[in-house]
Amino acid sequence: MNARNCKKCGKIFNYIAGPPICHACKEAAEAKFQEVKEFVRKNKVASMKEISAECNVDERQIEQWIREERLVFAGDSPIKLFCETCGAPIFTGRYCGNCKKDQVNSFGAAGRQEAPKAAAPSAGSSAARMYSKK
Ligand SMILES: [Zn+2]
Ligand SMILES: [Zn+2]
Repeated sequence: MNARNCKKCGKIFNYIAGPPICHACKEAAEAKFQEVKEFVRKNKVASMKEISAECNVDERQIEQWIREERLVFAGDSPIKLFCETCGAPIFTGRYCGNCKKDQVNSFGAAGRQEAPKAAAPSAGSSAARMYSKK
């Protein structure tokens, strides 16, 4: 058991994972998300302010949905998003497709603990020499 206070309503609930929000608030947020998604679909040129006002939802909440790639904007939307790495225009999330691909690769390399592939048994001795020369 991991009792936490809900970040939204303050109620104590059994925390499992993700944001510290209780089930009721999560359901309410989900319903709100569906409403916003529908609104964005019907009002492709709505600005962030309009969405926030029309759906009565915090702009920060909208931004969070964008970062989570749940909310996708049309090409003619006034809401302009740019890749945080290379600045390319994007319609959802934080990075463009190319940078996401690069990230997956570099994250994979950084997270790997065992020796790099070059030092595999077959190429063992020559690789070892190469490293010691450095
Ligand atoms: Zn709550
Ligand atoms: Zn990019």
